[in-house]
Amino acid sequence: MSSATFLARVVSGVVLINLFIFILAGLSLRQSYRQFQQGAEITTRNLAQALENDLSGTIRAKDVALFAMVDEYQRQRAASGVDGPSLNAYIERLRSHLPQFDALRIADDKGAMVYGTGIPPGANISVADRSHFTRLRADPDAGLVFSPPQMSRVNQKWIIALARRINLPNAAFGSEQSGGAFGGIAIATIELEQFSRTFAALNVGPHGIVTLRDDQLGIVVRHPEPEKIGSVVGQRSAPPPLREMVQAGRKSGTYRALSTVDGVERTFSFRRVADYPFIIIVGLASDDYLAEWRSVAVRLATLVVLFALATLAAAFLIYRNWKRQANSVEALAQQEAKFRTVADFTYDWEYWQGPNREILYMTPSCERVTGYSAAEFAADPGLLLRIIHPDDRPRMDRHLHEIATCEDGALVDFRIVRRDGAIRSITHHCRAVSDRNGEPMGRRVSNRDVTEHKHMEDALRDSEERWKFALEGSDEGVWDWNIQSGEALYSRRWKEMLGYAEEEIANKADEWVNRVHPEDMPSVMANIQDHIAGKTATAVAEFRMQSKDGSWKWILGRGMVAERDAEGKPLRLVGTNADISARKQAEAKLQEKTAALLRSNADLEQFAYSISHDMRQPLRMVTGHLQLLERGLKDMLDQDDKENLAFALDGARRMDAMIVSLLDYSRIGRKTSSKQWMTSRDSFDEALAFLAPAIKESGATISESGEWPRIFASRDELTRLFQNLIGNAVKYHAADQAPRIEVTSTITPQLWRVSVRDHGIGIATQQIDRLFQFFSRLQSRARFDGTGMGLALCRKIAEHHGGRIWVESEGDGQGSTFIFELPLVPADVAAGDSKTEGEQHES
Ligand code: ADP
Repeated sequence: MSSATFLARVVSGVVLINLFIFILAGLSLRQSYRQFQQGAEITTRNLAQALENDLSGTIRAKDVALFAMVDEYQRQRAASGVDGPSLNAYIERLRSHLPQFDALRIADDKGAMVYGTGIPPGANISVADRSHFTRLRADPDAGLVFSPPQMSRVNQKWIIALARRINLPNAAFGSEQSGGAFGGIAIATIELEQFSRTFAALNVGPHGIVTLRDDQLGIVVRHPEPEKIGSVVGQRSAPPPLREMVQAGRKSGTYRALSTVDGVERTFSFRRVADYPFIIIVGLASDDYLAEWRSVAVRLATLVVLFALATLAAAFLIYRNWKRQANSVEALAQQEAKFRTVADFTYDWEYWQGPNREILYMTPSCERVTGYSAAEFAADPGLLLRIIHPDDRPRMDRHLHEIATCEDGALVDFRIVRRDGAIRSITHHCRAVSDRNGEPMGRRVSNRDVTEHKHMEDALRDSEERWKFALEGSDEGVWDWNIQSGEALYSRRWKEMLGYAEEEIANKADEWVNRVHPEDMPSVMANIQDHIAGKTATAVAEFRMQSKDGSWKWILGRGMVAERDAEGKPLRLVGTNADISARKQAEAKLQEKTAALLRSNADLEQFAYSISHDMRQPLRMVTGHLQLLERGLKDMLDQDDKENLAFALDGARRMDAMIVSLLDYSRIGRKTSSKQWMTSRDSFDEALAFLAPAIKESGATISESGEWPRIFASRDELTRLFQNLIGNAVKYHAADQAPRIEVTSTITPQLWRVSVRDHGIGIATQQIDRLFQFFSRLQSRARFDGTGMGLALCRKIAEHHGGRIWVESEGDGQGSTFIFELPLVPADVAAGDSKTEGEQHES
């Protein structure tokens, strides 16, 4: 149920209960109101009734006194005349039976007060003008006549007078009805105060009133008086219900009205006084008789309000409790969902077995590992053990036996046979679990599929073994240096290399540092720094290390960073040490030999140069003298002598040419222009310029293609190279064919390659190897002139520039292609000693 629905229900429940209580309280109040109202009506009626009885009694008593007075008066008149004192005494006796303040008097036929109580002696008081006097005088049958309320002329008090006619004695005795001469009136007064007193004795409550009205509804007495007595006397205003009922001739009645005098609401009952012209009205103020009801109503209302508040509070508490409960249920559900998520999505196969090994929960991942679903395991308790590989069952049984009494976690490895028959390796971990009170709740089991891990482990072990074998076989020592901790591990061979036993070298980097030759240390460290900084793929250094016996050994150390932290800082350096002392010795010997060779080579070159140079001098003498001889003996010599002389001269000249070419050869790299950066094309053009006469003469066509690099070379030599190759291509062509030559220059990433192709006489394949040797010629001098030194020179030039030269030919008559390749950046430039080759001049 949603919070809003529950709240709506609680609220409507509270509203309904309160509505019911309100209605109940309302009904009960209404009921009691009615009772109070009825009570008031009954009270007023009863009081009015009582007053009526009282009033009519009072009047009747007065009337009796009046009769007695009239009788006495008439008797005395008829007998011996009125004896004043005796009459007065008689009257006084009568009066004594009446209430204290009432007076009994007799007025004569003129209206003068003559006898009776309370008349001051000598007072001349007349009632001749009073309505009751005039009326009785005029009407012998008037009977008992009431005066309206009036101020007594005897004692100035408000009174009403009751009067009866006195007939003169000639009239029939004792019968005033029979008429007779008017002889005066007998009067009984009732002080209005007396009514007031009677009324005051009634309990009509603080605001109740009692009113006496005459039959014309004029007020006679009202109690309480609003001001002083008589202030409302004679008022004729009356509430409409009273007026209506009186006019309708009703004797009594009850009504509610607002007082015409003080405006207070009251419940009235009126009653006509039987036989007398008076109406008694008793009114109880609503405020008085409802006061109790009101306090009850207020109490009840308070109770109802309190009840409403209490129900509201209860509803609030109920709602709050419900809300709390709902929240805790919700929190519980969330908690449950959380744990379920954790439990249901484990990668490993997890479960919880109860104390009797029954499965209480198993993660769905069991299906991934075993091929069986959690429901299958739950339904079939034997399945767990059945899928264990038969070979591993004894181990598992042992484990189960062991854990029966064991609280702690226990580990065991076994294999299972999956549903599909595949075998998987499992690492099983279980531990006893108990609830909060320490009651055992079975065991919590975690099964991890470690098949891949096992395979990897096996592979790793195999590979480790292979490496170990390879390293031990390679005779190299292995080291592993933890840069952060300064710890280092050295293999047995590493130690052995320096003559140490396994335990003689500690696992510290210092063991290595302290044994490196101090002279070699800076370069080794620089090397390692370069590698760590990422400048080199591996750190490789050759250095000397001191053996246990104090001798020095040359070591080739190779290492690389095997592990870096997240910032790329190296953590471990791993590598090998190889003993290269033997190689170093061999190298040193080789160096010595090379130096000796270089020296002897230089000597030889110098020797050859000197010889050739010096040989030209005698040769020129031979040639010169032979020419002189030829000129001097010109006419004396026969044809044979002349031919012999010419041979001798030719031989001398050829000899000179050969010596010149030898001199040229020996100058290469010694007395030619020094290497410098130049445009290769310039040399090519220069060579063509030198060759222009021969080209022109032979009618050769020379085409050129490709890119020409800038190159670091000796300009003389490069020109000479082109000159020789193109010169040969021009020279060695078939007699009937003009030479056709293609020169192609190509640049590869490292090399500059030039090929000079001709379509000339070609070269027999088996001769190719000889071509570049000294004075080697394939053609007879008769056909092609030459010294056979050109290509040797070319090879020396190519080699002087770090390059090589070779020839390709399909054979005789197939043309040939001479190719040379020079490095674009020669080794001496790369090494930075390009300026070391100084210019040398022929001495
Ligand atoms: P020379 O040209 O002075 O004889 P070289 O050393 O220049 O000496 O050449 C050696 C030999 O190689 C030449 O005698 C010739 O037989 C052969 N030879 C050189 N260039 C060519 C070529 N372009 N075609 C055919 N044979 C050649």
